[in-house]
Amino acid sequence: SPQHFQAASDELENKVILVTGAGDGIGRQAALSFAQCGATVILLGRTVKKLEAVYDEIEALGAPQPAIIPLDLKGATQQNYLDMAATIENQFGRLDGALLNAAHLGVLSQYVQIEEDLWDQLMQVNVKSQFLLSQALVPLMLKSDNASLVFTSSSVGKKGRAYWGGYSVSKFAIEGMSQVIADEFDKTGLRSNCINPGATRTLMRATAYPGEDPKTLKTPLDIMPNYLYLMSDASIGVTGTSLDAQAK
Ligand code: NDP
Repeated sequence: SPQHFQAASDELENKVILVTGAGDGIGRQAALSFAQCGATVILLGRTVKKLEAVYDEIEALGAPQPAIIPLDLKGATQQNYLDMAATIENQFGRLDGALLNAAHLGVLSQYVQIEEDLWDQLMQVNVKSQFLLSQALVPLMLKSDNASLVFTSSSVGKKGRAYWGGYSVSKFAIEGMSQVIADEFDKTGLRSNCINPGATRTLMRATAYPGEDPKTLKTPLDIMPNYLYLMSDASIGVTGTSLDAQAK
């Protein structure tokens, strides 16, 4: 099963993979794990220092040389995404995988107290930027024989939960976005799937659950098998699904 997928050390050799939110948390670990399996990873994120630290870690592993794309999804325009896709095409010629992982938690609150501008910010980062990113990347990914697009969902993206308002709604939108792409590009070789990481030891989780002992949680490394599975050729033909990284 995907949760127990064991990636070979050359599992992702010759693949070019973009990871958003690659500077911290799950995205950082995914970038490291993909590189460790031989992929050339493109690190996208907003805090350049963090991206540089991940870049150095990848170099230290002796993995293929990565690339860095600094971009804040909050302010980025459609032209920024098109330029990004053109840069990737010029530098690498293709894109075999994209993990759209970066997201904003926002403020958990009662539904009637959600502020309009905070709602707009959440939708900008968690939904609209994911639309613009995937729209810019799909034509490039279609040049690869078997490209894998992976969106990041959440358990509140499948079942709504009190106080998770805009974040929950944004993750439902991501499930829909992935399914639309999966259906539209079925038979082209481009597959699109969602991952729900489940409760994972990161800054975002600690912000959402300040009273929780982080040591009780799975680490980003623990949940990597699903991510490696979706990026590897083992998942060719799998599309339109939503995987739980911590499913038993
Ligand atoms: P973190 O907050 O630890 O990391 C998120 C990363 O995304 C950071 O590197 C951050 O950059 C980047 N990011 C955030 N906003 C922007 C932006 N506007 N532009 C560019 N980059 C941005 O989160 P997690 O690793 O926990 O979460 C990763 C994904 O998993 C998210 O989609 C989240 O919703 C989802 N998820 C996480 C769960 C968990 O328990 N951790 C559970 C369910 C879903 P910077 O470092 O500069 O802040």
